[in-house]
Amino acid sequence: MTHITLRIYGSLQDFLKPARSGAFTEVALQVRGPQNLKHVLEALGIPHPEVARILHGGKPVPWTALPQAGATYAVHPYRPGEAWPGPGPPRFVLDGHLGRLAAYLRLLGFDTRYDPQWDDGTLARYAGEEARFLLTRDQGLLKRGRVRFGYWVRHLRPQEQLQEVVHYLQLGRWAKPFTRCARCNTPLQDVPKAQVRDMVPAYVFRHHTRFRRCPGCGRVYWEGTHVTRLRALFRRVLQGERADSPRA
Ligand SMILES: [Zn+2]
Repeated sequence: MTHITLRIYGSLQDFLKPARSGAFTEVALQVRGPQNLKHVLEALGIPHPEVARILHGGKPVPWTALPQAGATYAVHPYRPGEAWPGPGPPRFVLDGHLGRLAAYLRLLGFDTRYDPQWDDGTLARYAGEEARFLLTRDQGLLKRGRVRFGYWVRHLRPQEQLQEVVHYLQLGRWAKPFTRCARCNTPLQDVPKAQVRDMVPAYVFRHHTRFRRCPGCGRVYWEGTHVTRLRALFRRVLQGERADSPRA
């Protein structure tokens, strides 16, 4: 039996039972048998993709290290914008609970895999094989070994989820609104007005000049009232990106 102390910082306290706030929470543990730090933390409820670093005496310690008797380990979350190494934008895969969030991310231009039929194994496989950033409401899914990049979405309402994820990953630097199909994730193409005459309602055709079409599913996009509302939402979310995300 090995006695250790974990000092759990910031948003990682959301995984403790009960969840805690404040700068950090100290947890005293007795570790049985040869368990490395990854196992110890995940047994406590903290999924590895949200842990930025583990420090012992101010020095980084690898996940695979076996805890030393009497040691205190400081466990830190990522700061906003740190969780994706870049250099380009993250590509996402989302679990079946996050359909609206998936549509929002696509409309902001992010490559986002989503299918409500996919099981946990499929989601973890896409996260691993394609190095996608997994967004999920399922803490257990984040603990799977294949998942390298990921985040447990705290909020339940889609607009708040979007705000939360934009803040966590500081997505504003990469956003390209209305360049990707919300339904099927394919990049949109500009299309001459004459070509969409039979694809959109007559009043839309009369009142709009600029159209985009999805080469994947054929859906046609134009600057209707729906888009105006979404632009206002995206502006609000992107402007609020640097503000502290409210804790769920
Ligand atoms: Zn499409």
